[in-house]
Amino acid sequence: MTDSYILAIDQGTTSTRAIIFDRSGSIVASDQVEHEQIFPRAGWVEHDPIEIWENTRKVIGGALARANLNSGNIEAVGITNQRETAVVWDKTTGQPVYNAIVWQDTRTQKIVDRLGGEQGVEKYKSVCGLPLATYFSGPKVAWILENVDGAREKAEAGDLLFGNTDTWVLWNLTGGAENDGVHVTDVTNASRTMLMDLSSLTWDSSIADDMGIPMSMLPQIKSSSEVYGECRPGVLKGTPVAGILGDQQAATFGQACLEKGMAKNTYGTGNFMLLNTGTEQVPSENGLLTTVCYKLGEEQVVYALEGSIAVTGSLVQWIRDNLGMISSAPEIETLAQSVEDNGGAYFVPAFSGLFAPHWRPDARGALVGLTRYVNKGHIARAVLESTAFQTREVLDAMNADSGVPLTELKVDGGMVVNETLMQFQADILGVDVVRPKVAETTALGAAYAAGLAVGYWDSTGDITANWGEDKRWTPQMDTEERERRYRLWNKAVTKTLDWVD
Ligand code: ADP
Repeated sequence: MTDSYILAIDQGTTSTRAIIFDRSGSIVASDQVEHEQIFPRAGWVEHDPIEIWENTRKVIGGALARANLNSGNIEAVGITNQRETAVVWDKTTGQPVYNAIVWQDTRTQKIVDRLGGEQGVEKYKSVCGLPLATYFSGPKVAWILENVDGAREKAEAGDLLFGNTDTWVLWNLTGGAENDGVHVTDVTNASRTMLMDLSSLTWDSSIADDMGIPMSMLPQIKSSSEVYGECRPGVLKGTPVAGILGDQQAATFGQACLEKGMAKNTYGTGNFMLLNTGTEQVPSENGLLTTVCYKLGEEQVVYALEGSIAVTGSLVQWIRDNLGMISSAPEIETLAQSVEDNGGAYFVPAFSGLFAPHWRPDARGALVGLTRYVNKGHIARAVLESTAFQTREVLDAMNADSGVPLTELKVDGGMVVNETLMQFQADILGVDVVRPKVAETTALGAAYAAGLAVGYWDSTGDITANWGEDKRWTPQMDTEERERRYRLWNKAVTKTLDWVD
């Protein structure tokens, strides 16, 4: 019998990866290519969709070559992706009409204000679970149709397609313009557009209408785990694509948060905490999003509460690239360890406003509490601590919304190698922080979704059985000190609000 595996494509914000997994959920081989971050103006962030598709092909070929495997060894492909990032393309030429507008991009603020009118950010929340914000895909598509020459006419003639990067990659993998690519997304990605009704799991035509988005542009919504189509020309020809999950939902799945009340927090460019709330939608009173966690084939949909933080790991990048204080991300830890504490400095990285639990687009970053005493080491600590404090805000909101305090937090993502941060995180939350053995939980989640659809894994019980603990951090700070520091953080946050004219 030929050895068989699952290949996951992780189309992330900074890079695209292909990772091949075996039945134990271990990595057999992987490949990764970064793509350009395009910043045409302050607040604008774009990616080139063609570069992303080329990179996807490169990493698939690269991972297969490293493992010395071919399509005959791959039982199914899963896709996970940066959510909300919007691509609009011409279905006859396969060419995007504009660059992908990335989730962090805030250019749609005026559109969002116009749509909200008197009702403001709450306008569509009871339908789609989300506050009206620049973060989600719908307003980005509206911007493209309003600002790209000829786009509206083409869209109305039925010539344009919209997708998040899952849909863009799937459409190209399954044939693209030449071979009638499959135009599909999954429920988790659809739940981040502001255009999907969370109860019926179908597009809401009145929101689409408000935004001026023709329904013909929207992909078909399917579950997160089923065969969507087969790869057409290319190294994976004939292999079924059988799983799609937005990156944060994929990480939740890969972390085996499969029961109501289980949560994970991913520390990447931004931070995203998701709490599985079972088959029940929990509306948030505390600034969290209600979203789809996953849906496996015909099974009932599972919902989640999510706390999204825009800037965490990207603050470390900013310290490296814009200030040149460090030459690589891991150096932030060495610098932070050169001092005992933050020396009184607090850094609130509200670079694109504040997301959960505040949702304040008018906020801008601030470094406060400075005295002559503060040095680079203290600032490095304040940088790391800002991630932990923002996570505390989100965890408090989750505890309040769900009514059941979390007793431990499963973590993953690029920042969790930073032990100084992880210890401080446990200290400031007052609960254990736990890192799993397989850190690539995002790709793993997509692989599980695809593998379950084709019978590579029998049931979600296999996911739970494969999950293993790597390291656990236990709180060491006393309660009084924890609350004193958190009080100062909250004071620092107030200094960032109402900044934009
Ligand atoms: P994404 O999937 O969002 O692209 P990753 O999960 O790959 O992100 O994480 C990358 C982020 O982690 C970067 O923003 C980087 O600054 C940060 N990072 C990487 N290594 C460290 C480290 N040792 N300490 C702190 N932050 C780090």
